[in-house]
Amino acid sequence: MTPSVLVVGAGIASISLCTALRTAGHQGRITVVGAEPELPYDRPPLSKTFLTGTTSSEQLALRPPSWYEEQRITMLMGTPTTLLDPEARRVELADGTKLDADIVVLATGGTPRTLPVPDGPLRDAVRTLRTHRDAEALRARMTAGTRLLVIGAGLIGAETAASASQRGCRVTLVDPDPLPMARAVGPEAAAFLHAQHTDHGVRTITAGIKELTTSDGTAAVRAALTTGEVLEAELVLVGIGITANTDLAQAAGAAVDRGVLVTADMRSSLPGLLTIGDAARPLGPDGPRPRIEHWDNARRTGERAARTILALPEPPPRAPWFWTDRYGRHLEMAGHYDPEAEPTHRGNLAAGDGSILFLRDGHCVGAVSVDRPNDIKAAQRLIDRRIPVTAVQVADDRTPLRTLLA
Ligand SMILES: Cc1cc2nc3c(=O)[nH]c(=O)nc-3n(C[C@H](O)[C@H](O)[C@H](O)COP(=O)(O)OP(=O)(O)OC[C@H]3O[C@@H](n4cnc5c(N)ncnc54)[C@H](O)[C@@H]3O)c2cc1C
Repeated sequence: MTPSVLVVGAGIASISLCTALRTAGHQGRITVVGAEPELPYDRPPLSKTFLTGTTSSEQLALRPPSWYEEQRITMLMGTPTTLLDPEARRVELADGTKLDADIVVLATGGTPRTLPVPDGPLRDAVRTLRTHRDAEALRARMTAGTRLLVIGAGLIGAETAASASQRGCRVTLVDPDPLPMARAVGPEAAAFLHAQHTDHGVRTITAGIKELTTSDGTAAVRAALTTGEVLEAELVLVGIGITANTDLAQAAGAAVDRGVLVTADMRSSLPGLLTIGDAARPLGPDGPRPRIEHWDNARRTGERAARTILALPEPPPRAPWFWTDRYGRHLEMAGHYDPEAEPTHRGNLAAGDGSILFLRDGHCVGAVSVDRPNDIKAAQRLIDRRIPVTAVQVADDRTPLRTLLA
């Protein structure tokens, strides 16, 4: 039997799934329904080159428009799915359309968390960044001299601060954590990343937000900080993370815990329902693991789901990988930062050219680099293949890391 597949959500996870199905010769019907009006586009540039103006809307497209027809994939864009009937394997769209398929895949991503903002003329000045439309609106307001307050110095907040400073905005970045991202990349790489803001004229403040007010008749949003300071800004970006879009799965009775719980082959607790990308939370032997909100994970989980649908064997697990770009520097991380592991340096990361590999029990468990993607490519393979390495081998910066793979 060639199962028909219906995918709810049209981001990178969804398109990776469709691509993998067709590449493997799947002949069945594929339908993708997406809440946003645009054909699938890439999100990472939204906080980077799209905000600075060097990437256009057209360049964001994940596939050219002709691709969907060539691949016989029906795209129903601009209409959210409102109901999922897992027994009938049917979904209902906001316009009343009902669609069924042998297999339903949720690829619904996440929604940015925000902060309470009272109604008032400046409500629109407080924004989040997830979609193309969000980025367009933000970019239009990022004129030179605009005071921008960025709340949250994670991936999206920090990248937006960098892009805005490049556009001539006067940027203040507030985060309660004195070393944002340290748990993800380790303290040394986090210190390098955070110091970049100050080096480029962005004011960083370690504080939480007590209150945002917008209705006192001034032309600016007022942000009361936990330190007692009050900041004013014409534009505010709230970058405090996302919540997984799990409503459909939850209402359908799937097991959900801050993400749709899935096994390694991306199956949810309901037969015929898979979940991929940011919306999925993997189950490990000891229970749910942290949800991963990175582009490569979305891509790979889409490919994994395709193998499940095609009844192909599961691929071996891969070390997670992500990147971030700010102020012209490119950071990559593979595997996990482990505070118990021995940090081993190649080059000088603190000076903006180097890598740190985290070694534990004679193996690499994680690696972070600035402007050294080849180190990360090799480190990822060292992790995946569990190749034994020593600190002396890793620290020898004259020998490419890939030679350790032989
Ligand atoms: C600004 C920005 C910058 C980023 N930069 C990086 C980076 O540098 N490195 C990195 O590794 N990762 C980065 N990421 C994260 C990465 O883009 C995400 O992990 C990835 O997009 C997740 O893909 P997804 O397909 O799971 O979800 P999404 O891309 O969010 O796609 C989900 C889609 O489903 C739709 N949808 C939701 N509910 C419904 C419904 N009920 N009916 C129909 N459709 C629905 C949504 O509208 C959306 O279009 C960034 C993300 C953003 C927002």
